[in-house]
Amino acid sequence: MSIDKYKIVIGCEIHCQLTTKTKAFCACENRYGGMPDSRVCPVCLGLPGAMPRISKGYVEKGAIAGLALNCKIANFTKFDRKHYFYPDLTKGYQITQYDIPLCSDGFIDLPYTHLPETQRPGGKDFIGTDFTGKSNDIDGKYKRIRIERIHLEEDVGKSLHLEGAHSYIDYNRSGTPLIEIVTKPDMTSPDEAALFMQTAQEILRYVQVTNGNLEEGNMRCDANINLTIWEDGKEYHTPISEIKNLNSFRAIKDACSYEVQRQLEEFKTDRKEFNPGFKNTMGWDEVNGKTVVQRTKNSFIDYRFVVEPDIKPFSVSEEFIENARKQVGELPEAKRTRFKKDFGLSDFDVETLTSSRDLSLWFEEAASQSKDVKKVANWILAEVLAILNEKNIPITEFHLTPKHIAQLADSVAEDKITSKQAKDVFATMLETSKYPEQIISELGLTQVTDNDAILNFVKEVVQENPKAVEDFKNGKTNVVGWLMGQVMKKSGGKANPKTATELLKQILSEV
Ligand SMILES: [Zn+2]
Repeated sequence: MSIDKYKIVIGCEIHCQLTTKTKAFCACENRYGGMPDSRVCPVCLGLPGAMPRISKGYVEKGAIAGLALNCKIANFTKFDRKHYFYPDLTKGYQITQYDIPLCSDGFIDLPYTHLPETQRPGGKDFIGTDFTGKSNDIDGKYKRIRIERIHLEEDVGKSLHLEGAHSYIDYNRSGTPLIEIVTKPDMTSPDEAALFMQTAQEILRYVQVTNGNLEEGNMRCDANINLTIWEDGKEYHTPISEIKNLNSFRAIKDACSYEVQRQLEEFKTDRKEFNPGFKNTMGWDEVNGKTVVQRTKNSFIDYRFVVEPDIKPFSVSEEFIENARKQVGELPEAKRTRFKKDFGLSDFDVETLTSSRDLSLWFEEAASQSKDVKKVANWILAEVLAILNEKNIPITEFHLTPKHIAQLADSVAEDKITSKQAKDVFATMLETSKYPEQIISELGLTQVTDNDAILNFVKEVVQENPKAVEDFKNGKTNVVGWLMGQVMKKSGGKANPKTATELLKQILSEV
């Protein structure tokens, strides 16, 4: 017997922390780090009798996330209790949303250009249909990954297994507001799973509902993966593995790739098949590069869901949804398409300029004040980003304004200064925060572009050098360069060289 072919099936669950000021159901500050257990109260410690209240902005940020990911928003929803035991879950249950999630039926379109060539249309590993066999190709440009639901829930505390015999629990994270994004099993390669997480991160950061810092655990991905195998014409499905808590794009890709090979080998050995009541819960051992079984669980575990009795089910008005929709704004992919079309910038430049919402807005502000958008883009891409990298700061902390760059770009575009002089102006600008126009006049850099003024210099030079003019008439054209030098000298180096050359040639031909 031999395996004819196989297909990878991946669905993701992404937990994403929201940036509300307070935790989900209490007034404790919602932020990362700090002294363990320094931001806790009876509610997030789950003390008896403590009453949860929905924090300001929690449902709204959830709705903004849902709308940014093309979901429908429920007009009526509620919170539920999911019961299970875990040391970092103090209450013995987690407040989540069970059967009426806030958001449902969304999608993310992944650009083929961000996938390996073999996985694009026409490539040997391209799969153009989703799990149900329906086409998931959008305009030959994107692969659509459907989102089943996004619900609101609270995070649990954090267990720290330090060296020695002790484990510690930090409850600062307990009660932090999360959304859980659940996809359909539409991803067919580890690259797609990683790209999905990356695209979700970019969009959710753009709409400012999360910091999206993977290293701080703001976003974590659980990947559900199995294989459809065709062997001697017969179709088989391997048992599902759920790889928990993948916290980098690399980890998602590597863990899924490893699991594909492991499942293939396992199938060849024991021919174990998919059973809806069973799945392997695994962890990813980054150091050894392998998945590790944590437990094999019945996926129909009874969490005894009940409606959270301390929080009233609530309506979500159309007005509320519309207000959330307004805050979504232009999403990164739409922005990229527009930048390419309106400004004629290259794919690479556009990718960089839209890599964060703040940078893209900064660029647009500068572009709107300048006559030469390309020059503005070049200054930002080459000089500004170099400074930001060097200082390791975001554009929002840069001390110069978009107006500085717009003015600098225009000064070159209008031939007030040369590109070489612009570098000096930029350096002075960095030091003094003065505007280019002020620096140019203070340093006396202004090029003379006034034709009459340059013409006077040219006439004077021609008058003062009859010998050279005579030589020119006798065919020694190389004296033009020397005469040009005299014109530049007379102007103190400020005459626009192009204009001066043109005028000199014109006068010489008339003499
Ligand atoms: Zn609290």
